[in-house]
Amino acid sequence: MERTFSPNISLTLIVSLTSRIKELRRCLPPNVNLLAVSKGHDIDAIKCLANCGQVDFGESRLQEALPKISKLNDFRNLKWHFVGRLQKNKVRGVVQKFDVIQSVDSFKLAERVSRISEEENRHMEIMLQVKFLEDKNKGGFDVVDVIKYLPKFRNMPHLNVIGLMTIPPRGITSQERKHVFKECRNLSNSLSLKDCSMGMSNDWEEAVEAGATWIRIGSLLFGERSK
Ligand SMILES: *Cc1c(COP(=O)(O)O)cnc(C)c1O
Repeated sequence: MERTFSPNISLTLIVSLTSRIKELRRCLPPNVNLLAVSKGHDIDAIKCLANCGQVDFGESRLQEALPKISKLNDFRNLKWHFVGRLQKNKVRGVVQKFDVIQSVDSFKLAERVSRISEEENRHMEIMLQVKFLEDKNKGGFDVVDVIKYLPKFRNMPHLNVIGLMTIPPRGITSQERKHVFKECRNLSNSLSLKDCSMGMSNDWEEAVEAGATWIRIGSLLFGERSK
């Protein structure tokens, strides 16, 4: 396994990444998984966390992710989660290289992922991205559509729906956010879906309190993004 860093990674970065991930893990209940969202950060930072035992990494742009995934090929056990808005011409690339798609946000997209997974002989774990409040900036299923379409998705043999994902709109109160997270947990429970991916750097504690099983952390782990 490739354990070497490029010469220009600083010791300070290694020390800070290592201590941040340890601290964060220490705060998480055992049933909550940490997704390290590495978009905007380079492979040395990812290697450093992989050396700390981190397995799950999230990326939101295929073009950025592909070279990273291929350079990290020696880390055999890494799992890649796609978390961004997925354009239809990117589905094949994502299906080939990622293990989980957390951001399936429409019936058409799910059908396409299913068809291409079959063609590529892959089985994809997916989460359905749900909107609990109106948000013009984000995609996502309305609650009624999740309920309507889930049985169809469950019949698609190359898809495995493992849970729901949500991103609350910006600018709402902590109270409103907690309510969104609770609604997501309740909807998952009522549909017998184990996973709820919710909570990012600024609101993960509220999400964990409401029953998240995945939190998606970027800047709190890696620092601010350059891009
Ligand atoms: C970027 C991103 C994150 C991580 O955001 P931070 O606020 O940096 O923790 C989580 N989820 C999705 C879908 C993202 O695009």
